[in-house]
Amino acid sequence: MDCPLCDESAMITLELNEVEIDYCTKCKGIWLDAGELELLLGQEQEAKELIDSFKIDSESTEKLRKCPICYKKMYKIIVGSSKPALLIDKCRKGHGLWFDEGELHDIFERAQLDENNKIKALLTDMFDHKKET
Ligand SMILES: [Zn+2]
Ligand SMILES: [Zn+2]
Repeated sequence: MDCPLCDESAMITLELNEVEIDYCTKCKGIWLDAGELELLLGQEQEAKELIDSFKIDSESTEKLRKCPICYKKMYKIIVGSSKPALLIDKCRKGHGLWFDEGELHDIFERAQLDENNKIKALLTDMFDHKKET
């Protein structure tokens, strides 16, 4: 699968807690196939609340990205109601979701998950490099 942002740059497959995700080493974006966000979130009720909060943003001026599966332009989705708005990309045909660098981590920060959520810790390791300094 090619990255929706970087021309002809193939993504690599990573495993996060037995869920296979596609990761672009160039822009650090992440593609999740349909249903994988729910699997990663793990906590059914919290995952449902988060996904129910998705709203299509028809006024976004952000560049529309193309689904790496069907190559159609994706919707911009606003997650939750907190400010600043978190925008992710969703395939109109439901193939999956695209997260720019750090956005998947942001979603885990915003979802009402347990402090010791395993994936949240893994994502923090992946994206939070401040700790290393
Ligand atoms: Zn990329
Ligand atoms: Zn698609």
